Amino acid sequence: MLTALADDSWWYDLTGVNATLVDDDETLTLVDAGLPWHGNKLIAGLSDAGYELRDLDRILLTHFDLDHVGGLTAFDGVDVTIYVGERDAPLVTGEEAPPLDNHKGAFQRLVSPLRNVPDNDVVPLADGDTVGSFTVYHTPGHTPGHVCYVSESLSLGLLGDLVREDGGRFEPSPWLLSYDTAAVARSISEFADRSPDFEIAIPGHGVPFEKNGSAKLGRLAATL
Ligand SMILES: [Zn+2]
Repeated sequence: MLTALADDSWWYDLTGVNATLVDDDETLTLVDAGLPWHGNKLIAGLSDAGYELRDLDRILLTHFDLDHVGGLTAFDGVDVTIYVGERDAPLVTGEEAPPLDNHKGAFQRLVSPLRNVPDNDVVPLADGDTVGSFTVYHTPGHTPGHVCYVSESLSLGLLGDLVREDGGRFEPSPWLLSYDTAAVARSISEFADRSPDFEIAIPGHGVPFEKNGSAKLGRLAATL
């Protein structure tokens, strides 16, 4: 369930959705938080990697969706800060509800009773912000506030649901699951252009790449 991808990064395979644990220069960082019933697995993974719950410092979210924010409440009462793209932040805090005039928003609204609002501080992120060694890239389309994170020092790209892995290559987030597929394509191209190279690439769904991650993404961008 927890697989080491490098000395300082671990992949959680949560059956259908991924999360990532990163020791970012001694700041223990969880990236995405699975579905509501994944909380215990996320906490168990910390000890599998040799840490305790109190070692966790922060949670980075790639976007607001039930399968990425559902497990957050497992960390209620733990001193961690949650970071998320600024357009998705009011959805995480419950200050806004997903829009009904978009098919994806309507779906998010439908499943919202399955989710509880976390009690930790939520910090909104803009394009170009940095959190530890990670740079934030606003990559809208799957959701309006979707972000990717790249750490050059860890050679690690966290791609969320901008793309998914299928059969050894990346595919764009599909229409059914996206607010705006044209924006997804634009975000993939722009992100591939402006992000630095990284070896390890972890999508929200599918199997991560341990090598040539940014090159794999570039291959997809070239087809769009
Ligand atoms: Zn997802």
